[in-house]
Amino acid sequence: MMEKKNIDWANLGFGYIKTDYRFAANYKDGAWEEGGLTQEANLVINECAGVLQYAQTIFEGMKAYTTADGRIVTFRPDLNAERMEQSAKRLEMPVFPKEKFVEAVLKTIGANAAYVPPYGSGATLYVRPFMFGSSPVIGVKPADEYQFRVFTTPVGPYFKGGVKPLTIRVSDFDRAAPRGTGHIKAGLNYAMSLHAIVDAHNQGYDENMYLDAGTRTKVEETGGANFLFVTKDGKVVTPKSDSILPSITRRSLVQVAKEYLGLEAEEREVYLEELPDFAECGLCGTAAVISPVGKVVDHGREICFAGGMTEMGPVTKKLYETLTGIQMGTIKAPEGWVVEVKSR
Ligand SMILES: *Cc1c(COP(=O)(O)O)cnc(C)c1O
Repeated sequence: MMEKKNIDWANLGFGYIKTDYRFAANYKDGAWEEGGLTQEANLVINECAGVLQYAQTIFEGMKAYTTADGRIVTFRPDLNAERMEQSAKRLEMPVFPKEKFVEAVLKTIGANAAYVPPYGSGATLYVRPFMFGSSPVIGVKPADEYQFRVFTTPVGPYFKGGVKPLTIRVSDFDRAAPRGTGHIKAGLNYAMSLHAIVDAHNQGYDENMYLDAGTRTKVEETGGANFLFVTKDGKVVTPKSDSILPSITRRSLVQVAKEYLGLEAEEREVYLEELPDFAECGLCGTAAVISPVGKVVDHGREICFAGGMTEMGPVTKKLYETLTGIQMGTIKAPEGWVVEVKSR
């Protein structure tokens, strides 16, 4: 048995802690080099690098954790690879091949096995693959050289001290333009959301609900998580839009709803005006799986969900327990969802 690092897992927050190894591969002269693990966490890049001048950078977010029977696993890494391919194409970056992406992720987790929190701690090892333009660019064009990297950082339990449903405001800022870049996981979508989230926090809200920028009548997502709603008769509804990021957690939850819980699930346009018709609301993403939303505030008008401000609604809770059970190995997973990591 490999020795775990001496970390107070239960009290970890969500922050960067340097681990021992990271993966790095460079793209140069039209091809990816083999790449490999390195202990060097710092980068030296030219002052005129594409990422620094024109924000040519994309990323992914995933987790590694220990199952009930002591295996280290990660969740659907093939989907992260495919999504990063979409992001790369939209920003004129080279695609890091899917098999190599998965291999790099598994290798990096394996090399940092001592940082994968034990089963039952609630903590996980967050995994961050990313890619950026590394060569100098001053005239506006894609960089010629890129670096793909994967680093890991242990993060604490999301629901520390119990579940606290979120209070969300309808934002006056827009997140993504129609036919823009809302559907890719790029740093640029986050840079422009920082002002809105700082302002939301200053006003006492946890998150922003962004509406479709074209008509401002339909629900899109928050800065970093997709919405999931439950109707009063127990049907799961998720917003459909070309400008939201296709959350792997949300897509998995919809499949869990249908195949494990026998619920109806529908992906369709969701209007702000119909929010009061829903019984439950949650935010889906890798970090929390689902965080319940207790209340949405639209310019003073409060829309409260039946789940209330103290606990998850019953359907949200079942979805959460089933998906985390699948991830932790206590419920049988669909083929290919849970991928084991061999530690070095
Ligand atoms: C990463 C992200 C999500 C969540 O996606 P998961 O694959 O479930 O982690 C949702 N919205 C945005 C904008 C994101 O960047």
